[in-house]
Amino acid sequence: MKMTKFIFITGGVISSLGKGIASASIAKILETRGLNVTLMKFDPYINVDPGTMNPYQHGEVYVTDDGAETDLDLGHYERFTHARTTRFNNVTTGQVYNAVISRERRGDYLGKTIQVIPHITDEIKERIKKVADVSQAEIVLVEIGGTVGDIESLPFLEAARQFRQDRGEDNVMYIHLTLVPYVRSAEEIKTKPTQHSVQTLREIGIQPDILVCRTERPLSSEVKEKISLFCNIKKESVIEARDAQTIYQIPLDFKNQILDEIILSHFHLICKYSEMADWQTEVVEKILHPKASVRIAVVGKYIGLQDAYKSIYEALIHAGISNDARVEIKKIDSEELEQCRPEELLQDLDAVLVPGGFGSRGIEGKIKAIEYCRRQQVPFLGLCLGMQCAVIEFARNVAGLKDANSTEFQPRTRHPVISLLAEQKNVKDMGGTMRLGAYPCKLRKNSLAQRVYGKDLISERHRHRYEFNNVYRRQFAEKGLVFSGIHQKKDLVEIVELKSHPYFIAVQFHPEFLSRPDCAHPLFREFIAAALQKKAGC
Ligand code: GLN
Repeated sequence: MKMTKFIFITGGVISSLGKGIASASIAKILETRGLNVTLMKFDPYINVDPGTMNPYQHGEVYVTDDGAETDLDLGHYERFTHARTTRFNNVTTGQVYNAVISRERRGDYLGKTIQVIPHITDEIKERIKKVADVSQAEIVLVEIGGTVGDIESLPFLEAARQFRQDRGEDNVMYIHLTLVPYVRSAEEIKTKPTQHSVQTLREIGIQPDILVCRTERPLSSEVKEKISLFCNIKKESVIEARDAQTIYQIPLDFKNQILDEIILSHFHLICKYSEMADWQTEVVEKILHPKASVRIAVVGKYIGLQDAYKSIYEALIHAGISNDARVEIKKIDSEELEQCRPEELLQDLDAVLVPGGFGSRGIEGKIKAIEYCRRQQVPFLGLCLGMQCAVIEFARNVAGLKDANSTEFQPRTRHPVISLLAEQKNVKDMGGTMRLGAYPCKLRKNSLAQRVYGKDLISERHRHRYEFNNVYRRQFAEKGLVFSGIHQKKDLVEIVELKSHPYFIAVQFHPEFLSRPDCAHPLFREFIAAALQKKAGC
């Protein structure tokens, strides 16, 4: 068997440099060379996972098939590559300490003093080996969260340093992502922050092999030479990562600088050549030069934060690619909708999406937007909480149950059309206890859902606690709500839709997690197609 190769990706100077996208892009160019890749994310925070964090703290929580609540970078990994991540691909300080402390309490360490080195670092290294074993990947890319110099990421960096000691130079590589700012007043590109950041990394014992430099302006040959000299890195290994019009351009930019070759030659790997022509023409060109355009409203409460609905925004872009259309996203604050007539904010839009969420703030605005879509025949896609709101709207305004609600928002409502299953009622711990991960769902014959998916049985990822209350199923079906997707084992409603409407569909799961730039999710693809039709006045 071939030896697995490991690439550690660190970041310097500032946060938000796009380390996740850079890591995913590097994995992508290696994958197109025929290598089997996987990616891991190390998060230095003490939470066990981001599942309990507020979106303002963390952005979207990405859910894997096996039901792990993980960092949104895993979404980039799955969108850019064919890697399928699991709960083992996201490691936090909280998980590492949890494991070591439980072992200590069991007495497994036989009286030893437990220390960061070697016990914490060993646990981190074990987790990397485990992913390598389980995935059978030839290349494991490990992105270390945070910025070099942070106290919190030190154990992860130390484990990365030791990894090369253990496995040898030919099997381990370090890539450092840094910022090379342009200082307007001096009209110059400055390399000093990069020099300092590499210096900090070297103090920890890591000499990067490759530098990926985020920059607004092109890096001249002289600048690259200077960085090369001061940072002790070959000039061709100083890679420019200039701001791109779309994130999907970045793998191509890396490829143009033969970053794939540089990595392969470090590992002494010989692989087939690949051009990535399809990615260029079928993904990037389609985003940059679309034929048509549509305007889509996303009605949520975290719209001020770009990262909160990351996978949804990406899935809309993918659906645009497959419809050859630019998708202009208009973010609408659901609380603002509560203060006005819905047409004031929605009338010049071609379709409305209501995403997931928790808590009662902004709920009535979402319900108002859904009512508008139902009455005005505007294409509507509801996701998770979006489906629950669609059910409440139908209950109130079509089935005549005026005070229908979810018990999440009104525990004593007279008509709990969305409520907790018995198994959720006694849950005390908030972390990791929702209905999480992939569940099969059977689609109803001749429904919109079945037409859209083109099959009878699907599997989709979940993250919610509340469910449609089956007590109301027959009553609502008689009034025209179609229950077109059911999780059969527990008889749970997964999809609802309306018949006499061009596109009104709402799902209890999160299809956005399965959308890819070169393979848009069918629910999103047809949603954008319906929006285009509406715009054309069909
Ligand atoms: N708050 C709802 C629930 O827990 C919906 C969750 C979501 O949209 N992800 O069921």
